[in-house]
Amino acid sequence: VNDRARLTEIVGPANVLADDDMTAGYRQDWTGRFLGPSTVVVRPGTTDEAAAVIKACAETSTPVVPQGGNTGLVGGSVPLSGEVVLSLTRLNRIEPVDAAGGQVTADAGAAIAAVQHAAAQAGWAYGVDLASRDSATVGGTIATNAGGLRVLRYGDTRAQLVGIEAVLANGDIVTSLPALFRNNTGYHLPSLLCGSEGTLAVITKARLRLVPPAPHKSAALLRFATTDDAAAAAGQLRRGLASLAAVEFFLQAGLDLVCETFALAHPFAAATEGAYLLVEAASDRDPIEHLAAAVNALDGVADVAVATDSHTRAALWRYRELHTESINHVGPPHKLDVAVPVAALAELVARVPGVVHAIAPTAKTWLFGHAADGNVHINVTGLDPDDDRVDDAVFRLVADLGGSISAEHGIGTAKRRWLPLARTPAEIAAFRALKRAFDPAGILNPHVLLPDERR
Ligand SMILES: Cc1cc2nc3c(=O)[nH]c(=O)nc-3n(C[C@H](O)[C@H](O)[C@H](O)COP(=O)(O)OP(=O)(O)OC[C@H]3O[C@@H](n4cnc5c(N)ncnc54)[C@H](O)[C@@H]3O)c2cc1C
Repeated sequence: VNDRARLTEIVGPANVLADDDMTAGYRQDWTGRFLGPSTVVVRPGTTDEAAAVIKACAETSTPVVPQGGNTGLVGGSVPLSGEVVLSLTRLNRIEPVDAAGGQVTADAGAAIAAVQHAAAQAGWAYGVDLASRDSATVGGTIATNAGGLRVLRYGDTRAQLVGIEAVLANGDIVTSLPALFRNNTGYHLPSLLCGSEGTLAVITKARLRLVPPAPHKSAALLRFATTDDAAAAAGQLRRGLASLAAVEFFLQAGLDLVCETFALAHPFAAATEGAYLLVEAASDRDPIEHLAAAVNALDGVADVAVATDSHTRAALWRYRELHTESINHVGPPHKLDVAVPVAALAELVARVPGVVHAIAPTAKTWLFGHAADGNVHINVTGLDPDDDRVDDAVFRLVADLGGSISAEHGIGTAKRRWLPLARTPAEIAAFRALKRAFDPAGILNPHVLLPDERR
């Protein structure tokens, strides 16, 4: 990059990294599947510095990849063609919680765990939670419209977003801060930038809605003989348990892998097959009786383990949360985070292994997800990183079942080829028009979200 001296002037020499060893962690994605070549990483400490960096890059038409915690799972946060990496993690301040309004303003690089902590200190809670909470950032979760473990109760990241500050592709700063919960004055830029995956602007700050805490929690791990029974139970729980906070889903193979990888005891020692639901209820008073009654009313439960104290609850959650890491131990997975109508969940789970096996007989398929939302994380290990025949076949199956090729991770670079399976030509044309309006020179995350245009 010939404008490195200019970038150094803006952020100081300590915050321009160029040495391959120093930039390695910024160039490779969390799954290990995507790795960019040598490049420069710039780490602004203020919004003005971020704006000056973008302006400098715009003037030389230098492409930029915005990066938060680099926990994204679709290869969107790494510089695959040697783009400049704009790392936002030094922008990590969280303002005092607005206790009266139930909102907080946080910098883009603040970790979700830090936002959760700040909210809790002020007697509130943040509605988004995900296993990558210690590294995933406010900006990254907005850019990907992250879902996670509490979507069922509080909605996705977009549902928490009240206002935003961002740097446009020409270096201008736009802000809707301080934000009002009600403000119906035209295009809502926070909503538009949410889910834009760094292609329209660089988010530098956000105003987030907080929710009342639900400090009393109980969880139960349920085993069912079939996925059909588990899916039916997830629907029944949504109807029958007002304090329901999460219904997570996994299968025997994933559970066995987690137990083996992390040397955990099996929850039901005798069980060798099944579909599992991890159910959590949360309320301002102890929900255990309601949870127990709701579980008792379910059909097809083969085994139950209930956790009433936080220690046992954390132990049950580990079986679900350690799936992602355990699968990564097997090898870099192809991660196909899809959604189908809940009524089609069991069919998807039944058909995917056969679809994978027909193409790659030695590959392994791991399935888990957020059952009540119809969101299944299909992970396939044992595939070449560039061989996407399995991805193609699975996405087509998902589309046939009326589903989406991305439930919560976004499109990134991994799925952009298949965007037409999820969006109509008219929608994609509108996307392209927005991209051109916001980023006419195409410098912001050029290899993400939109498929290459046909020539
Ligand atoms: C163990 C594990 C569990 C996970 N669980 C979930 C889950 O339950 N639900 C879920 O939705 N995701 C989950 N993820 C995926 C990931 O954590 C989310 O996508 C998260 O939102 C990424 O945040 P990040 O700060 O790491 O962003 P990055 O990975 O750094 O970036 C992700 C995308 O956002 C863009 N971006 C980042 N910061 C900015 C910014 N300030 N302005 C503009 N664009 C920006 C990047 O260019 C990239 O396209 C999980 C990941 C891991 C590793």
